[in-house]
Amino acid sequence: MNDISKQDIGALIKLQEAETQIVRLRAVLKKVEKQKGELSAKLKLFGNALEEKKENLSTAITNCKDSEKEIQVVDDRIIKSNETLRMVKTNKEYQIFLREVDDNKKRKDVFETELLEYLDVKEEIEESVQESEKEYNLLKDQIEAEQKNIEKKSTDDREILEEYLTQQNEIGKSLDSSLMKQFAKISKMNQGLAVINVKNEICMGCFMNIPPQLYIEVQRENSLILCPQCSRILYHINVESV
Ligand SMILES: [Zn+2]
Repeated sequence: MNDISKQDIGALIKLQEAETQIVRLRAVLKKVEKQKGELSAKLKLFGNALEEKKENLSTAITNCKDSEKEIQVVDDRIIKSNETLRMVKTNKEYQIFLREVDDNKKRKDVFETELLEYLDVKEEIEESVQESEKEYNLLKDQIEAEQKNIEKKSTDDREILEEYLTQQNEIGKSLDSSLMKQFAKISKMNQGLAVINVKNEICMGCFMNIPPQLYIEVQRENSLILCPQCSRILYHINVESV
């Protein structure tokens, strides 16, 4: 059992408080980063869906243009055939060009029907893109506001974390290095909780009873007392007075 001062015990209690807060704040800040990441991912997913719709729209526009070109080509052929038709000399030739005009008119009908379908599809996608763009912009504003809000809230936590880190560093320098080593070892063994209060002869770390003699020693505050069960550094504060 090493002898230590009352101030050392006080410093250890403060060090524990700082360490506990550091662990807590780091977890909070990690969660904040995760939340921000999730929000960005949500927006990106929506953005990708919008891009896909825009690509579909560009395909639909190309289809319409192609179809219009085809109609133009057939139209030109019809005009040409009609001109030729006026100049033919024989009935046989006349029949041939007449059939050609007919065939091209039929093809034109087919292309025109096709164009109408393409125009319908284009219009439908256009509406969908406009709708999605509106939704995307709303979502973007909403997410950016949410992220700013989260960031603002976490600013305080970051500052407090910095304060505790400074405190931890200062206490670390003020304490004996062997005591610091012991603290670190016990902390590692107990998931970061190395210094613990004893209340009514019960260790608040492992909730086991402390032998009465040891409890008296803890209350004297002149030596480093470890819990026989969990090995944590014990201290006693009359809880009612805190
Ligand atoms: Zn214990």
